[in-house]
Amino acid sequence: MKSTHNCKPFVQPYCKVNNVAVAAQYNSTDISWVAQQAELLDSCNQYANEVIPQLAEQHLFGIGVPEHLGGAGGTTAEAVEAIEDIARHSVTAAFVFWGHRSFIEYLLLSPNETLRERWLPELLNGKIAGATGLSNAIKFLSGIENLQIEARNLGEDYWSLEGQLPWVTNLRPQGFIVAAVVAREGQSPLVAALRHDHEGLQRTADLELFGLRGSNTAAIHLRNVEIHRDDLLHDNAQEFIVRIRPSFLALQCGLSLGLADAALQAAQQVAHFSGNILSPRILSLRSELVQRRSELLTGIDAGTFARDPQKLFRLRIALAEIVQGAAQLELEASGGRAYLQDHNRGFFRRWRESAFIPLVTPSLVQLQGELSKHRQAL
Ligand SMILES: Cc1cc2nc3c(=O)[nH]c(=O)nc-3n(C[C@H](O)[C@H](O)[C@H](O)COP(=O)(O)OP(=O)(O)OC[C@H]3O[C@@H](n4cnc5c(N)ncnc54)[C@H](O)[C@@H]3O)c2cc1C
Repeated sequence: MKSTHNCKPFVQPYCKVNNVAVAAQYNSTDISWVAQQAELLDSCNQYANEVIPQLAEQHLFGIGVPEHLGGAGGTTAEAVEAIEDIARHSVTAAFVFWGHRSFIEYLLLSPNETLRERWLPELLNGKIAGATGLSNAIKFLSGIENLQIEARNLGEDYWSLEGQLPWVTNLRPQGFIVAAVVAREGQSPLVAALRHDHEGLQRTADLELFGLRGSNTAAIHLRNVEIHRDDLLHDNAQEFIVRIRPSFLALQCGLSLGLADAALQAAQQVAHFSGNILSPRILSLRSELVQRRSELLTGIDAGTFARDPQKLFRLRIALAEIVQGAAQLELEASGGRAYLQDHNRGFFRRWRESAFIPLVTPSLVQLQGELSKHRQAL
């Protein structure tokens, strides 16, 4: 595999502190590994390569995937709930899960049966990591930036690719497959699935991040990468993104659902320190979370968001705002204790994780831009 990835653990001073208190807060046996490693998953890449195998072992990737395709059956809402469960403990693990599960969704919604049959089994059992490099494409379709990968036609059904993806998560060095949108002259952009061992594809070392460091996030450079029609998820990026958008966005809302729930739960647990003055605000935000959660889970299975994507954009924004409010309440309820490393190591991790929620593609700024365009068009 052509990769310059250097997987040396980056251990910040606080990585060395035992996080027993964090692990002891939760008693779910199924996801105890995620809960125990949450601090290290955020602060260094020591366990980055274990996330996919650990989640695969819990059979989480088949949720919402039809049984006849090798999945566990069930609905997309159940897949959102599975991501929510992980995000209660670690947004890094949940974001990796989201990238992987999104790629699985692309295969489910792609007309390319050959690609689906080739990769779905290995994605479901976690042998290969699925990654989604579509933030550039989403910004392109909103008219914010140009596509960063270009295709040169090599004859019927063959193309050569040049360019880069500056941010991609779940580039597991042991093997990955990544979705990327590719510009073509005079024709609609393609959506390609690029394998880690494609000749000319290079993964950089992990990006130096402030958090989510155990997420295998790096850049990809492409030099004369040759692809064939069999490598395409779709030959029209705009059509494909409209098709995947409801599940892509709903699945990422699982990050907000889990993180907001964890922060509110922690805030409630320490609310007595502040004489329960904050309890009404905690309860009110909890009830808003329950309401939005119900709208999301009902809407995704009813197909509402394919007909009304703006409704989903507003839900995603509302949930991100609930996360910010929940993190603030956990801080206020903890008071100065929030700064004591021995008191509650989960708080500062959640605080950092909450900073990522508005940036998940499409970012809140991009969604607000889309809603504003929609209002002007009415
Ligand atoms: C830890 C991490 C992991 C990531 N993993 C992935 C990944 O797996 N795959 C992937 O594809 N990407 C990934 N990204 C990239 C991420 O998805 C993008 O950063 C995200 O889409 C936000 O885009 P942005 O950085 O341009 O910021 P934005 O918040 O979108 O905006 C930044 C700037 O662009 C301007 N802007 C935004 N919208 C508009 C508009 N409508 N009109 C005019 N100006 C506008 C704003 O004014 C602002 O100045 C990752 C990022 C991080 C931090």
